[in-house]
Amino acid sequence: MKCTILSVGTELLFGSILNTNTVYLSQQMNEMGIDVMYHMTVGDNPLRLKDMIRHAYVDCDMIITTGGLGPTQDDLTKEMIAEAFGEEIITFPEQLEILQNHFKRYDRPMTENNLKQANFPKNATVFPNPNGTAPGFALEKSGKLIVSMPGPPKEMVPMFEQQVRPFLENRSDGALFYKTLRVFELGESMLETRLLDLINSQTDPTLATYAKDHESTLRIASKRKTRAEAEAAVSEMLAKVRERIGPFIYSEEDEDLSRIVLRKLLQDGLSLSVAESCTGGAFSKAVTDVPGVSAVFDRGIVTYSNQAKMQELGVRAETLAQYGAVSSQVAEEMADGLYRASRSDLCLSITGIAGPDGGSAEKPVGLIYIGLRHRGEVRSYRYQLRNSNRRYIRSNAVMHMFLVLYKTLFRED
Ligand code: AMP
Ligand code: MG
Repeated sequence: MKCTILSVGTELLFGSILNTNTVYLSQQMNEMGIDVMYHMTVGDNPLRLKDMIRHAYVDCDMIITTGGLGPTQDDLTKEMIAEAFGEEIITFPEQLEILQNHFKRYDRPMTENNLKQANFPKNATVFPNPNGTAPGFALEKSGKLIVSMPGPPKEMVPMFEQQVRPFLENRSDGALFYKTLRVFELGESMLETRLLDLINSQTDPTLATYAKDHESTLRIASKRKTRAEAEAAVSEMLAKVRERIGPFIYSEEDEDLSRIVLRKLLQDGLSLSVAESCTGGAFSKAVTDVPGVSAVFDRGIVTYSNQAKMQELGVRAETLAQYGAVSSQVAEEMADGLYRASRSDLCLSITGIAGPDGGSAEKPVGLIYIGLRHRGEVRSYRYQLRNSNRRYIRSNAVMHMFLVLYKTLFRED
């Protein structure tokens, strides 16, 4: 099935809001094995909207729209769809009742224009909206399908998940199964090179690589008659992929590195503390984003200045003077000092140059040292990160801190 995602709303053309619906729906379609051919955005203009619908059906058999289903004059998506499909608009009595109850419950007067939210093209399948007043709907005619949902993401997303996805799955022939692998220290182009022959020679399962900010993902997808067949095909391909890039795969379940590391700490009953310089607390933030982590995370301290490193962690003035704040020696002394204070099983530290200033030929922007005290030993790791910008360097530094923990927890012994 080939699909167009059509966003309706003048605010999108003004750039007033980000088109998150299109991103979300593209991902969902992709996962369901429906090919997205076009993203279209049109203002609240009935003629252009009708035109877009016509254009989309030139080489697609399905359109998903969001937006323009509200009660006001400029919300005309429904009317234009009905016209494009040559359907009349009628009031659905059960929807009218839901709407009336909604207004009664919230003690709000129902105005005349609200009534139109109970109107739909005659043969539509209606998707009730428990999070708002505009229901969505699907309409099918002569091999063309349209699904229309309200614009606000907090209404659209639950409607998609609870109603539209099952609706689409029921209509589709065959079953899709896929696995998303997370891969680190192997850029997207390197990943593709290693898997090129597999990527090129396969039509099913398909392999697709995606570059994220600091890692790559690889999706293996199969569409077969039954789910069992699709699963078997994916497993077989997964085995081949493991042979090529096994050590670089850290998740076969599309899981964040931070979650994997923290779960392992929980399982092994190990405690963690961190002393941060260039990341300014971003690592502690990422750790505490994971619920339940209080059982393992003891403390995170930000020691930004030399003075703080000396006072809080006992880093020696001579070490700072001799090697500079961004050095393996300082990273190690930070981890050591943190251990004296916290006695945590894993004491992690980081010092680095996030830029844009402060770099030198010897110590360029993007240079980081990660220190780790673990089982009575202190080590440090040096990474030269790509100097894209400050935000990128800092988030990549956090990723590398989790990477150091991952390797320590999973690859040692
Ligand atoms: P609607 O009344 O259905 O046209 O949608 C109204 C509101 O939904 C807009 O003011 C936005 O806040 C939100 N919205 C509409 N379209 C999108 C979109 N494509 N992505 C994210 N939010 C959207
Ligand atoms: Mg609108």
